[in-house]
Amino acid sequence: MLGSGTPNADPDHSGPSVAIVVGGATYLVDAGPGVVRRAALAQRVDSIAALRMPNLDRVFITHLHSDHTTGLPDLMLSPWVLDRTRPLEVYGPPGTTRMVRLLQDAYSEDIQLRLHGGEPSNKTGYASVAHDVKPGVVYQDSNVTVSAFEVAHGKWEHAFAYRFVTHDRVIVVSGDTRPTDAIVRACDGCDVLVHEVYSAKQLATRTPDWQAYHRAYHTSGVELGDIAARARPKLLVLYHQLYWGADDSELLREVREKFSGNVVSGRDLGVY
Ligand SMILES: [Zn+2]
Ligand SMILES: [Zn+2]
Repeated sequence: MLGSGTPNADPDHSGPSVAIVVGGATYLVDAGPGVVRRAALAQRVDSIAALRMPNLDRVFITHLHSDHTTGLPDLMLSPWVLDRTRPLEVYGPPGTTRMVRLLQDAYSEDIQLRLHGGEPSNKTGYASVAHDVKPGVVYQDSNVTVSAFEVAHGKWEHAFAYRFVTHDRVIVVSGDTRPTDAIVRACDGCDVLVHEVYSAKQLATRTPDWQAYHRAYHTSGVELGDIAARARPKLLVLYHQLYWGADDSELLREVREKFSGNVVSGRDLGVY
């Protein structure tokens, strides 16, 4: 877990990003703010070589909300000047290609200077390659098969969760979603379900318009317990936690009202 955060600028919870590490390769899900520095810290603390800068070359974006993407230009450009020679491959819903193209345009003066201004830069690692993908298998190599599927995130036309099948584990990352049976079907006894959550109890402290918003866009702890009871993950990891004054034990208590399996509240740099 590189970042477990939300739009709230909480220094203890970096922007949402999960690193699936398989066979020495890294598959990132989302690029919240802070993603590159969190990867550097995880590499330092846990000596995960797969998180070295040259290896940050693949990311799967769940949806284009800013809290999941403001780290994208960082991921496109910073590892390049730290010896990544391969272009960043960016997979995401429709609109991803446009976002990447516009970011490349926004940073074109930087890119031109680094390429041609005397900096001893490599001439390949800057060129991000974007893929607008549809639900279904979106990526495959000898380590993983990655599938995208639609979730229900308010008025977003396209918001994805991703399912990773490795040689020894099935991992589902929800992205942002209100409760949806799509998660139940995709997990179906999976090894690890990483799912967003907000505090059902503390929702009452929010104004009515925010309560309506969160109900349409996100999943409460009680609702997640119901989803997990039917999805039956071997391990449920909470992330993108909206606490509003609650703590981890309160969130876990809500989930456990209906889910009796293993559950932990994810934290930045947690390894699961
Ligand atoms: Zn979000
Ligand atoms: Zn969102």
